[in-house]
Amino acid sequence: MATEKKTCWCCGSQELKKFYEVDDAPVHSVLCISSREEAINFRTGNIKLVFCKDCGFVFNAIFEAAHSAYSEKYEATQSFSPAFNAFNEKLARGLIERFDLCGKDIVEIGCGHGEFIKLLSEIGNNRCVGFDPAYREDVGVPAVEGKISFVKDYYSEKYSDYKADFVCCKMTLEHIQDVYSFMSTVKKSVKNTDATIFFQIPNFELILKELAFWDVYYEHSSYFTKQSLFKLFERAGFTVTNIWTDFDDQYLMIESGLKGKHQINGKASDIAELQVLIDTFKISCKEKILEWSKKFKSFKQENKKVVVWSSSSKAVAFLTALRPSVVEYVIDINPRRQGFFMAGTGQEIMSPSFLKEYQADIAIIMNPIYLPEIKKMLAELDVYTQVLTV
Ligand SMILES: [Zn+2]
Repeated sequence: MATEKKTCWCCGSQELKKFYEVDDAPVHSVLCISSREEAINFRTGNIKLVFCKDCGFVFNAIFEAAHSAYSEKYEATQSFSPAFNAFNEKLARGLIERFDLCGKDIVEIGCGHGEFIKLLSEIGNNRCVGFDPAYREDVGVPAVEGKISFVKDYYSEKYSDYKADFVCCKMTLEHIQDVYSFMSTVKKSVKNTDATIFFQIPNFELILKELAFWDVYYEHSSYFTKQSLFKLFERAGFTVTNIWTDFDDQYLMIESGLKGKHQINGKASDIAELQVLIDTFKISCKEKILEWSKKFKSFKQENKKVVVWSSSSKAVAFLTALRPSVVEYVIDINPRRQGFFMAGTGQEIMSPSFLKEYQADIAIIMNPIYLPEIKKMLAELDVYTQVLTV
């Protein structure tokens, strides 16, 4: 059993309030699992989300780091999606322009397979180093002498000799527990005080507003809103220059420096608004889960064939919350996920072209932002499936 954390990872406060629990969540969502049996019996852990009344940070107070294994079997790339690539390219171009990133040294913490640093390197002619224990040479962006290199390890002070004019870290902080000590390590490791530090994470405010229970899963131990992210950066000694949301508000982005003054304020009054959303989340999510289970029941009665589109962590959380027997397959455009099985519920992951043969009546889309490209793909395949979004 995990010992419950009684102080906030972000600000150290003990004013914590439990508000949401998930039992038996698969501890990893996107490790490639080769058999249905292994997938169904995949190791689980419990989630107890607590809210810090002082800074607004939300975290799983009973998270057990011992469950984590970010190995080469970890496959979370979204780079097969045109909409995702367009977003990343626009972001890279925007950062290059704003920070004059041309011929500079860039470090990316948690670079995945290197798709983003490839953009930064190619568009701005920058020298980039990506840190990620899950990077794979066979499927990732190849290293390019003097331009792009990879270190298959977690970033730490050990690597402070790597020069950085710009440090980016996308979709990584939410996997970290002691976020304050992580940010302090980043602060100590970046020797160049003129460097810009950019982070991107899921926007928990949107998750709360949309009652997106599928966005709470074991791999994510930490959940931020603008307030708590500001607080964390401030406490760790960064000066915050901008915080904004993008990708239909799904992502929260922060820009900061290592000297000077904040250029924005973290408003304490917003914590009260957050508290209201927190208070309704549990009850309203329960209702939403119930609605979905009624839908699945009627699909079953009507002998409908239903698939879930995406084998992402969202899909794992959605399927484990509902366990719909009517869903026999999951569709994913990423060929590196196809042929593997969904953690917790065991559906086999298939390619979109499988739908030609399977003739599903309904496809449930886990992220509405991909709806246009999914509809286009279905039309190209000559597949006429009703599409529903969560
Ligand atoms: Zn706190």
